[in-house]
Amino acid sequence: MRVLFLFFDGLGLGEDDREHNPFAAADLPTLTSFTGGRRWLRGLPRIESERATFLPTDACLGVDGRPQSATGQATIMTGINVPRQLGYHYGPKPNPDIAAIIRQESIVKKLAERGLRTGLINVYPSAFIENIERGKRLPSSNQMALRVGGVKLLDGRALLEHRALSVDFTGRLWWRHGANHDAATKVWRTQFGNDELPLMSPFEAGQHLARLAQDYHFTFFDHWLTDYLGHRGTMEQAVELLQIIDEALAGLLDAWDDSEGLIVLTSDHGNFEDLGQRGHTRNPVPTLVIGAARHRFLDGLKDLTGFTPGLLRVFSSRA
Ligand SMILES: [Zn+2]
Repeated sequence: MRVLFLFFDGLGLGEDDREHNPFAAADLPTLTSFTGGRRWLRGLPRIESERATFLPTDACLGVDGRPQSATGQATIMTGINVPRQLGYHYGPKPNPDIAAIIRQESIVKKLAERGLRTGLINVYPSAFIENIERGKRLPSSNQMALRVGGVKLLDGRALLEHRALSVDFTGRLWWRHGANHDAATKVWRTQFGNDELPLMSPFEAGQHLARLAQDYHFTFFDHWLTDYLGHRGTMEQAVELLQIIDEALAGLLDAWDDSEGLIVLTSDHGNFEDLGQRGHTRNPVPTLVIGAARHRFLDGLKDLTGFTPGLLRVFSSRA
């Protein structure tokens, strides 16, 4: 069994509003192929298709206020209702109480104890990784859950060696200014020079993702651009990104073997689906699970606490 986990930060199911919700405006043939041609919006029910199950998922977890990344990600990565245990949503980075739960209960740590190999296959600027390793910068809850399971963050070298993927799929992010990456781009250019940057089409990136997932039992892709654009992007940028994600998924599905494993796509909270306001939302998040073993994985899943038990179930079975 193999699981490829596609985490998209801040991706919710919102209103049918073409002015503010990229899901209502973008051309998304792959995503909507899993929902009978219907757009990914609030109010969609659970939908079964030939290869996949689509399931709106609660990210509020019975706690007032707007869901945040540190508590949402920690819940996904531990199976514990972290905001309810704390009494509040918190983020973006984990505080000491959240960090203590992650260190104890990380799914990645549990998989490592069972001899299963996890990889985080999107790259980060090397200065970013050094700062985390020196304790000068806090990792996210996802990164922390991976690190306590022995997983290393990869830098641009892994991209050059085709062992990883750029978080924007195509690699074009590294050329751009903005997107919080001025410093990262500078570091990249000093280290490698522009000419060496591997660029891919979104479809090729998706196929590459399927190949990368062959090296691990549990492969994690930690996409943060959706939340970033939800906070400060334009509708044009958001629609463009969503269409890239859609094409990358098409490439991934083209190369993916449904009998061998699962693709799990989900998010920690809403944000990107409502550019009319700049904060997180209380909308449900989309969960999409592709693969033959998906019903065993999904059994009883209704909110963010369901992912860790689902992973433990599919990895403990022989199939
Ligand atoms: Zn955010």
